[in-house]
Amino acid sequence: NAARLQAISAVEAYVPPAVSFVAGEAPGEIFGENVFSRSVMQKRLPKSVFKSVTATIEKGAKLDPVVADAVASAMKDWALEKGATHYAHVFYPLTNLTAEKHDSFLEPTTDGMALAEFAGKTLIQGEPDASSFPNGGLRNTFEARGYTGWDVTSPAYVLENPNGNTLCIPTVFVSMTGEALDHKTPLLRSQQAMGRQAERILTLFGHVAPEHVVSFCGPEQEYFLVDRHFAVARPDLLNAGRTLFGAPPPKGQEFDDHYFGAIPERVLGFMMDTERELFKLGIPAKTRHNEVAPGQFEVAPMFERGNVASDHQQLLMTTFKTLARKHGLEILFHEKPFAGVNGSGKHVNWSLGNSELGSLLVPGDTPHQNAQFLVFCAAVIRAVHQYGGLLRASVASATNDHRLGANEAPPAIISIFLGDQLADVFEQIAEGEATSSKGKGAMQIGVDTLPVLPTDPGDRNRTSPFAFTGNRFEFRAPGSQQTVAAPIVTINTIMADSLDYCATVLEQAEGDFDAAVQALLKQIITDHGAVIFNGDGYSEKWQLEAAERGLLNLRTTLDALPQLITLEAMALFEKYGVFNEREMHSRYEIALEQYAMTVSVEAKLTAEMGTTQILPAAVRYQTELAQNAATLKAAGIDPDLGALTEVTEQVAALRSALATLKAELADDSAESTVAEAEHAGEKLLPAMAAVRAAADALEGMVADDLWPLPTYQEMLFIL
Ligand code: ADP
Ligand code: MG
Repeated sequence: NAARLQAISAVEAYVPPAVSFVAGEAPGEIFGENVFSRSVMQKRLPKSVFKSVTATIEKGAKLDPVVADAVASAMKDWALEKGATHYAHVFYPLTNLTAEKHDSFLEPTTDGMALAEFAGKTLIQGEPDASSFPNGGLRNTFEARGYTGWDVTSPAYVLENPNGNTLCIPTVFVSMTGEALDHKTPLLRSQQAMGRQAERILTLFGHVAPEHVVSFCGPEQEYFLVDRHFAVARPDLLNAGRTLFGAPPPKGQEFDDHYFGAIPERVLGFMMDTERELFKLGIPAKTRHNEVAPGQFEVAPMFERGNVASDHQQLLMTTFKTLARKHGLEILFHEKPFAGVNGSGKHVNWSLGNSELGSLLVPGDTPHQNAQFLVFCAAVIRAVHQYGGLLRASVASATNDHRLGANEAPPAIISIFLGDQLADVFEQIAEGEATSSKGKGAMQIGVDTLPVLPTDPGDRNRTSPFAFTGNRFEFRAPGSQQTVAAPIVTINTIMADSLDYCATVLEQAEGDFDAAVQALLKQIITDHGAVIFNGDGYSEKWQLEAAERGLLNLRTTLDALPQLITLEAMALFEKYGVFNEREMHSRYEIALEQYAMTVSVEAKLTAEMGTTQILPAAVRYQTELAQNAATLKAAGIDPDLGALTEVTEQVAALRSALATLKAELADDSAESTVAEAEHAGEKLLPAMAAVRAAADALEGMVADDLWPLPTYQEMLFIL
């Protein structure tokens, strides 16, 4: 087939672009070069204005309009010096993508002149016409307006582009009535709610007026790189982000050594370019190679405040997409681009803390500090046990369904891994007496019998969805193309609830504080210890054991999403001011819609590619075989009809599977979003699988020069 073979030669002939590397340039020189950072503000703003902005950033105080005008003016001057012609409010609608509304700095004046204008009110508020973003019923078309507003805690930056630079301002996106239409708004709300409760605990432990507590997040991003020549020859990769067809390659990922060593030169060039761009944008990336699947890599920026990490993560994905194209590559953020090959996740490393105390999930040097650490840990255990279903729902998507529960990613059962040492400590607490230390292994918190706690849990359990890793928890279920905001919102909110519970118990306790802490920890571990699991999460046994322990096992998105609208969930989010009921319903509705749309696009692509690319190739080959048989027969030779029979069988199977799929696609009887999503999951997915089975079988039969699609082998190993 011409297109595929041309792609192969084009890849061979490709010369990668030069890397925008400046000899002798130290990373420190360019770090944050394009960011309107605190130090830039300090240089450019009057002292009082700078102080006021800093207070807003640190304490979450409201931005004074007078201050906003001064900041806007300084920001505009700075951006113009950086070559910006436009400014954009950047926001994060519920599609997992990033949206931008661009406006020119130039405002026409009445005398026909243009004036560079950017007032404080423009900085603080924008009004994109938002009718085309999903809102799940939160907005009627007559109030299609959405409002964007600067998240002062996330710095503005200049994005470079050959066609002109843009000043980008990270914003929230809300409806006229103030309801959240985005991922940032609830993140900020949840961070504040959790911070308040954490500060109560700190106060109980004797910290006087502790600094504001926030969440921290360090996301690890996995991705695949494929030569762009192959990508354009695969409508499925371009439009669905994953291959809908493709037989497993003769050589898979069993040779772990293959990619362990040197990074392919071309990929290294790409990584150096991305690193430099990210540094300029103030994103602390440390890029490195991933050794799991061929063509798969990972980048892990240093952790930052939750909302900033989330913005940076989105910016990282767009930057990678742009630069991959520059290097003739297509980057795949899909959770499962290739069946049978490892998928990609985005581990959310999460902790809480402040700049004064650092992470509150670090064991301390004294028994008192350790007691505080154990309370925060216990709060996590309680949160994950009580609201495991919500965590599962926060990572539910049509694309992540292909990864979760496969033997490479955590199972759909949400459990906690503590490591042997910490698990042992909690076990002892469970057995110990709150008032006396008699009994084997009994332990009292706050006295010297507490062992030195692990700072590095040594062993790493890769099968656990929620693992303690020394100073943080690592949530491993999020998918590679999802925003990290939804998981962070969930963790923050369930932690707010747990910390609230702990603080209330401790505040009400009479008598000895240490004894109260001991009793609280014991209570939590007794009620919620069932969520702790240090074994092999991939094993069949765990599925059974988890069921016995009463843990949820929500295998698919359709199973998981209803968790968002249970009475318990809605009461939780409402109580901490993160979502009201309408917002929860809208999110549920949008997630279902996205699920149905994703599957439906894939189903249409499957039908189209099956009909117009694969079936014709198979039929041509079938004809060749039949003609060959006829020719042999005419020459008096008895033909071997084995190959022809096999191909004919699979062609028939493909035809019939395509017919079924098309019939399902034509079925528009679903009258609700739920029904549509169910139809997608229960009818379209199996119909697509049947088409693929026949097509993949044919890939192993049809003559190579007739096969239209770049194969797994080509895409994964030619880079
Ligand atoms: P590993 O391979 O051990 O998981 P990585 O270095 O790939 O480790 O990624 C660890 C991630 O965790 C990094 O993004 C790092 O910044 C982040 N991290 C480290 N400490 C914390 C913390 N206290 N809170 C949140 N994230 C953290
Ligand atoms: Mg990790």
